[in-house]
Amino acid sequence: MEKRVYNFSAGPAVLPLPVLEKAQRELVCYPGQGMSVMEMSHRSDAFIEIMTRTERDLRALLGVPDNYKVLFLQGGGRLQFSMVPMNLLRGTGKSADYILTGSWGKDALKEAQREGETRVAWDGKEGNYHRVPSQAELKLDPNATYVHFTINETIQGVQFPREPETGNVPLVCDASSEFLSRPVPINKYGLIYACAQKNAGPAGVTIVIVREDLLARSAESLPGMLSYKVHADADSAFNTPPCYALYVVGLVVEWLRDTIGGLDKMHQLNQKKAARLYEVIDQSNGFYTGHATNDCRSLMNVTFRMKNAELDKPFNKEAEAAGLVTLKGHRSVGGFRASIYNAMPPEGVEALREFMLDFARKHG
Ligand code: PMP
Repeated sequence: MEKRVYNFSAGPAVLPLPVLEKAQRELVCYPGQGMSVMEMSHRSDAFIEIMTRTERDLRALLGVPDNYKVLFLQGGGRLQFSMVPMNLLRGTGKSADYILTGSWGKDALKEAQREGETRVAWDGKEGNYHRVPSQAELKLDPNATYVHFTINETIQGVQFPREPETGNVPLVCDASSEFLSRPVPINKYGLIYACAQKNAGPAGVTIVIVREDLLARSAESLPGMLSYKVHADADSAFNTPPCYALYVVGLVVEWLRDTIGGLDKMHQLNQKKAARLYEVIDQSNGFYTGHATNDCRSLMNVTFRMKNAELDKPFNKEAEAAGLVTLKGHRSVGGFRASIYNAMPPEGVEALREFMLDFARKHG
């Protein structure tokens, strides 16, 4: 087999090797079916079994309470920027609160503004989105129809250590870039959504966990494909679901349960991995500086800059030559971003750590 690199891409991102290997073994013939999952009818017993099992395992892994629906949708994280306000804001005569801690939250707000009244409960613009607000800083509207926040900002590498408190107002979360990386108190939320292509599987499927009472807000006039209620009533098979992507999500969930040992274990591992990189940054005497403030550094996306930006190009080139790829930061933040999702093995983090230490010794 060709040698695999350590891929620090922000998404689509590295998948667990055992998952890829199992998918490879079952690619041409899914056991007992004589055909690939890609070739199966989504109404077949075999596929319905895959989908039912995936949902059941995901619910068990996350501890999703019975009064929440789990939906497998399409359209990525971005379609949720629109579906959330279409279903939960449109026609309510109320306004929705948005907490802005980075690029994705701002984009979510833009889409909500097309649908109705919105307010900004906090905006981290002043510090170029390098931190999350304290509870006291949030200017929440007690009559808001929901509060939206981005628990991990993929571009800035800023992560909420815990959920903001919103009282009786439903909390809506874009969890795209941290989903399944740590346990979640689901009952604090009205709705959580995540595109799959970071921690949960390949691009093409988006997971939505929604409290059942909120489904009553989906207007009858909404196009079926854009209505949470329609998808929930059809058990995520209103149209052909993203079958293969969904099957891989099932394999990832199985890996998290059986190989990793659950989300607590995953969280501990993620904390250890991130600490190894932040330690290099902190002990580099300013050669590297982190973007996020210490108390809200992301465990998933480690963002940093070099004191001397002229070294950016050589850093990238030498890293690639060492098999450490896709480290370039987003242009709005600059520098570098090491995305170390669940499937990035500790060995990959250690290899990057050694590379960073070595590079600083040579150029510092
Ligand atoms: N939200 C967050 C936090 C993201 O990181 C991304 C993708 N990087 C999106 C939303 C958009 O997802 P998609 O490209 O699947 O629409």
